Amino acid sequence: MKIRTKIALQFTLIIALILATFSASFYYIAEQNRKEEFYKNLLDRALTRADLLVKNQKITKSLLKVIDKETLSKLYSEKVLMFNADNKIEYASYDPDSSMIYYYYNADLLKSVRQRQYVETVNGNLLVVGAMYPQDTVGKYVLMASAEDKFGNSQLSQLRESLAYSFLFGVLITTVLGFIFAGQSLKPIAGMNKEISTITAYSLRKPLNEGNGQDEIAQLAINFNQMLNRLEQSFDLQRSFVSNASHELRTPLAGIKSEIQVALEEERTPDEYRKVLRTLLNDTQRLVELTNSLLQLAQSEKKERMINFQEFRLDELIFQTQEELQEQHPNYQIYIDFDGIPDREQDITVSGNLVLLKTVFSNLIDNACKYSSDKRAEVRIGFDKKTCSVRVIDKGIGIPEDETQRIFEPLYRAKNATSFRGYGIGLSICRRIVDMHRGTIQVKSQLGLGSTFEVTLPHM
Ligand code: ADP
Repeated sequence: MKIRTKIALQFTLIIALILATFSASFYYIAEQNRKEEFYKNLLDRALTRADLLVKNQKITKSLLKVIDKETLSKLYSEKVLMFNADNKIEYASYDPDSSMIYYYYNADLLKSVRQRQYVETVNGNLLVVGAMYPQDTVGKYVLMASAEDKFGNSQLSQLRESLAYSFLFGVLITTVLGFIFAGQSLKPIAGMNKEISTITAYSLRKPLNEGNGQDEIAQLAINFNQMLNRLEQSFDLQRSFVSNASHELRTPLAGIKSEIQVALEEERTPDEYRKVLRTLLNDTQRLVELTNSLLQLAQSEKKERMINFQEFRLDELIFQTQEELQEQHPNYQIYIDFDGIPDREQDITVSGNLVLLKTVFSNLIDNACKYSSDKRAEVRIGFDKKTCSVRVIDKGIGIPEDETQRIFEPLYRAKNATSFRGYGIGLSICRRIVDMHRGTIQVKSQLGLGSTFEVTLPHM
């Protein structure tokens, strides 16, 4: 079911429920009021008759009966009976041979009037009221009066009819208005749907209309546009990765091909063949290293889903990394220092994956030494209440200003780094790992003067 229909129906249902409750309460109150008034009127009229009969000696039972029959203001089917203490009829406003009389002989009803002094009941279309006369606990007679409330009933049926029509009309209007309003509220979404259906991988630059920029739908469009931007960046990255990767793979492959072609051009001595094979071995070695790095990059993405976190001291990890690097490259000079003395162990503790974070610092320190003629790196460990930071500082070749952000892209290498070994993958892995730890990695560099890489990680 479409959201528009759903909203309109829900709206109609709520209004219908409110209308129905309101109409039912209104009808109930009107009916109760009518009954109450009618019972009161009935009783008053019966009491007047009893007064005339008992207090006025001149009015006899037969005279009263005549007055009763001839009264113009009589209620419809009105009957009044008066019973004495022995439940015998003292007065009847009509001939007591009518079938109704037997109803009032009902001893239980008379008993109940005597007990409760006043009883209201219904018999078919008739409303019946019973009361003691005189109206005190020791009243001698029981007065029973009954009549049909024709006028009240017809008023109630008119009220029922009007309420039913108002209800149907209300529901109809609500349904129509519900459809119109729901349609209007959802109009921007329909427009958005249309715009989204035209977006392809090559037209991500076409953003959605952000409307007034204030309401929820505008917020949705803004978020969607931001997502498109991120997607576009990631597609760009993918495209540059593919072109960089093919370039990196093509260079050694082209070298291998031309080496083989040159070697095959004429007959060679075994020594010359050996020399060619050695060069081929070097080139294939480079290819193996490159594919290994690409594999490492792919695995860092996979690891993201099964990464295992633990708490450890960051300074200990840095010392371990220093030791391992020093073993592999005895010519490196790695100096470690603190920006302040940690008072408590927590100040220097982070939660993360030890192996992955070691990869990050190993890469940064290795780069610092690799791209510096003095092979020297300074590592400074800092901390505050929320984070720990590690700065890796060198006085090496630096990075051209326009390339400082691109060096984090897979396979990207700055122009001034091509004479150094490497494939431009380490930093992209570093960024991914730091992102996984909800940390940040930043670089500040001056060409020819050196670079500082800073990694910040939350304590927990
Ligand atoms: P690689 O060092 O193998 O090329 P990285 O991903 O580690 O790959 O680095 C990407 C690029 O960033 C390098 O090619 C280099 O241009 C630049 N770079 C990284 N660290 C430094 C540094 N300490 N000094 C100068 N340039 C650096």
